[in-house]
Amino acid sequence: MSKSSPNAPADLPEKNDFIRAIVREDVAQGRYDEIVTRFPPEPNGYLHLGHVKSICLNFGLANEFDGLCNLRFDDTNPEAEEQEFVDNIKQDVEWLGFHWAGAPRYASSYFEQLYRWAVQLIEQGDAYVDLQTPEQIRVNRGSFGQAGIDSPYRTASVDENLARFDDMKAGKFANGAAVLRAKIDMASPNMNLRDPVLYRVLHREHHQTGDTWCIYPMYDYAHPLSDAIEGVTHSVCTLEFEDHRPFYDWVVDKIGFAKPPHQYEFARLNVSHVLTSKRKLKRLVEDGLVSGWDDPRMPTVAGMRRRGYTPEGLRDFCDRVGVSKADGVVDFGLLEFSQRQSLEDTAARAMAVLHPLKVTITNFDQAVADVMTLKKPSVQARLESDVLWLTQPKHPNAEINAVLGDRDIPFTRQIVIDRADYEVTPPEGYKRLSPDNREIRLRNSYIIHIDEHRTDDAGNVVELLATIDPKTLGNNPEGRKVKGVIHWVSASHGVPAEVRLYDQLFTQEDPAKIDIDNLAQEINPESLRVVQALVEPSLANSTAGARWQFEREGYFVADSRDHAPEHPVFNRIVSLKDGFK
Ligand code: ATP
Ligand code: MG
Repeated sequence: MSKSSPNAPADLPEKNDFIRAIVREDVAQGRYDEIVTRFPPEPNGYLHLGHVKSICLNFGLANEFDGLCNLRFDDTNPEAEEQEFVDNIKQDVEWLGFHWAGAPRYASSYFEQLYRWAVQLIEQGDAYVDLQTPEQIRVNRGSFGQAGIDSPYRTASVDENLARFDDMKAGKFANGAAVLRAKIDMASPNMNLRDPVLYRVLHREHHQTGDTWCIYPMYDYAHPLSDAIEGVTHSVCTLEFEDHRPFYDWVVDKIGFAKPPHQYEFARLNVSHVLTSKRKLKRLVEDGLVSGWDDPRMPTVAGMRRRGYTPEGLRDFCDRVGVSKADGVVDFGLLEFSQRQSLEDTAARAMAVLHPLKVTITNFDQAVADVMTLKKPSVQARLESDVLWLTQPKHPNAEINAVLGDRDIPFTRQIVIDRADYEVTPPEGYKRLSPDNREIRLRNSYIIHIDEHRTDDAGNVVELLATIDPKTLGNNPEGRKVKGVIHWVSASHGVPAEVRLYDQLFTQEDPAKIDIDNLAQEINPESLRVVQALVEPSLANSTAGARWQFEREGYFVADSRDHAPEHPVFNRIVSLKDGFK
């Protein structure tokens, strides 16, 4: 069994949630030969952040207890399921760094066995075919606080039921004309025990079984039995299934397994501003409100991957969130924190100016000529025609940089800095450039002195005239303090790039509250802003999917679909600081 799940983050104690406590105890008592879990997605959409928690838990348990975790497609509903979803779910689980045991499983591959067990239940007198209309069934189920009414078909003989179930299977009933129900208790305070439906008639092809079947098992019947078939020991699911557990236990008990699986429920993951309803996510895609399932604003695994999120960061996030029975909302900031953590030591640094303002260095020729005469320059520099090439590390940590290597940054007579780094009338506490604070260090190069700014007719600053101090390349000047550091890019040798700045898709804290028909009105118009940036040449050569830190801006990824060296496109993964309220 390969161990792909990392250990808990160093600053976190050993994982010891209530589920792990149960499994640990089961292992200590020798109750099972091996711990077996499963991740059971229904292939009716793409996986999202909520599923990531379930994946980390189920695969994590198997890894930590030397057990196995199956990937099982719960494909009992042919109406909504598609091969496209199956393929993407597999890709997503692997990308998250987990390995399922053996081949992927399908609930549909157990249809024959599930059918035979249904026959067994009929023979035991534990199930019957109900020919009431769906409406009658609904009404006669009663309601909370009001007992249901027995179906007139409840007392039919075993033989009658066997014959009717045969007819169901043979296609003699139209959709909805007959169902197989468990015979439990129509007066149970738990609605799930009021003779739940086991099988329904549905004349519909299935993506795995074709037209073999026109009856399909219900999820609540198929799930415990699929678990039992696979020898699952701990069937972990979300809290909304707590009320279904008595039926889960009823099914495995009636079929008579010596070592039945057990169901345990934990609180689902809710993250502020994040929509985790498959139905609504699907609507966003179908209505063209996003560019697709992998739109970088989507909380799908596909979207987060394209956004540049790392699997390490997502696993770290799930570890920090932990597992409990208490419902709550996790702050989106924690997700970003985990991403920053995982990117800090891996992303190469580069400079990109998102809102360029031209700076002309009036003493450029003299200054660079002076540099070349320095005996022991602290920065490797090479003068080629009008370009001073500065060799700088890609990462401030020397050990990491030994792997990443250096890059060459062109310094030229004209450079650009970010507009926000020069203010004519700066707000209080402003530490960057202004007429009152004319000196600043240019990251990776000189200290610059602004002599003058030029404005257009409307009074906007359009250019700065500046001088550099030749002695400050990699050195601090003597006798004066320079407060800030800003980033810059050569105006002539920088490469134009499209940079996509992402923000929350919904400004509402709880997008679950948004009605599915109002999604369009509620989308944050600022969730995607595109700027034309100028970036240092090392970025243009980035491979698609490579992640970078744009110094002082944040972490970015070369877009996996649209980036090309002749047309660089970067997505913002996360800004450097927590800008989120
Ligand atoms: P639905 O069943 O309504 O289509 P679902 O989100 O339950 O949606 P499944 O494919 O059935 O989708 O989910 C697979 C597994 O992921 C289930 O075990 C489910 O409990 C779990 N899961 C889904 N959403 C979350 C969440 N927000 N947090 C934790 N686990 C989740
Ligand atoms: Mg589900």
